[in-house]
Amino acid sequence: MMKTHAPKGTYDLLPQNASRWRYIEEQIHKIFREYGFGEVRTPIFEHTELFQRGIGETTDIVEKEMFTFSDRGDRSITLRPEGTASIVRAFIEHNMAGPGAMAKLYYLGPMFRCEAPQAGRYRQFVQFGAEALGSNDPRVDAEIIALVVNFYRRLGIDDLDVNLNSIGCPECRPAYRERLIEHLKPKASQMCPNCQRRLERNPLRLLDCKNTTCQQLTADIPLITETLCDDCGSHFEKLRQLLDLSGIHYRINPRLVRGFDYYTKTVFEVLAGDLGAQNALCGGGRYDGLVEMCGGKPTPGIGFAAGMERLMMVLEARQLMPEIDERPHLYLAPLGEEAQKIIFPLCIRLRESGWIVETDLQGKSLKAQMKAADKLGARLTGVIGEDECRVGKILMRNMETGEQELIDVAALSEYLQTVLRGS
Ligand code: AMP
Repeated sequence: MMKTHAPKGTYDLLPQNASRWRYIEEQIHKIFREYGFGEVRTPIFEHTELFQRGIGETTDIVEKEMFTFSDRGDRSITLRPEGTASIVRAFIEHNMAGPGAMAKLYYLGPMFRCEAPQAGRYRQFVQFGAEALGSNDPRVDAEIIALVVNFYRRLGIDDLDVNLNSIGCPECRPAYRERLIEHLKPKASQMCPNCQRRLERNPLRLLDCKNTTCQQLTADIPLITETLCDDCGSHFEKLRQLLDLSGIHYRINPRLVRGFDYYTKTVFEVLAGDLGAQNALCGGGRYDGLVEMCGGKPTPGIGFAAGMERLMMVLEARQLMPEIDERPHLYLAPLGEEAQKIIFPLCIRLRESGWIVETDLQGKSLKAQMKAADKLGARLTGVIGEDECRVGKILMRNMETGEQELIDVAALSEYLQTVLRGS
């Protein structure tokens, strides 16, 4: 049969890397617990209309990046391209909105977007993120940003570039949109086709176009921060004050709009310098109209999503990834069938007591088994040959000190306790 490969834009995580991922995942669960967020696991696929409605028809994701297919009942299904829409659906479906109630939810899992793969950009990638629903207080915005910044700082990334902006609300944004269209219309013919198309439908998106001509054309646009209504203006000011008080450094980036249609007021992005073109570690924002748009009662909300692959890239490049010790405590080497009969159940018993135990399952020679033990980094090895079988003993070797001693098989558990746990 022809060899098959993992599909374009996907990758396999092999054991050594998987343990690093597990370590970071634990740190993620830990910080969310500390900030009072509860985990939600939603399905990997949803009805397509959830994303069409929840993310917005004019976004890149919905326009061209979704993996959509018909199921056997001819329903349109889409692999989730992001987490917010699903969390909002679950929030509504499970009636989490009570009077005065706030829901602080987080997720961690794979997302799917049919993008052109490159370093830091995949078709299946892992995001972790949070959604805080039920309060429009700027303290919630500040808490989310503090959580994100402190998470990266804890892992040793301390030169974060936190970009912050407010993109207004349905009160003040329409006027800004009009001003923007008026300002940019005369230059439309020089813009990239994408921006030409979006000029009337979603002119804010022109601000984050990567095309250099478009960037020059939008260099002198009126700034949204100058036209915010009183409510948005005071929200933004309070947020900045809270961040200042909490020692969170940021810079106001009036061009930051982000790719989703649902944002209102606060938007932010956290960048790390050494990620190249795909330099965003995470992004988020407030979405006070989204729950209602998805069929729920009007509920304010704010959230963020962060990429795992990009985080791992930064940690590896800066050698910030801690060494994870998964070496076996013990390698047991049987010589011959009689020894195998002793060692096989012994391994199982020791593992039941929590020891990490490796053994040979291929009938290797003693020399090959010792080599394997060495390669695995086992701290102790135990050999049972014909002689040891007869007297119920096992020859133990400490791989660090080279010391050897013969002990009773029955006393092995106690021996491990003394040598490895010091009691
Ligand atoms: P977004 O959901 O587009 O706001 O992205 C939030 C974060 O997810 C980004 O800052 C990236 O770290 C990560 N991300 C988004 N798309 C991809 C992708 N295709 N491959 C890997 N990471 C991604």
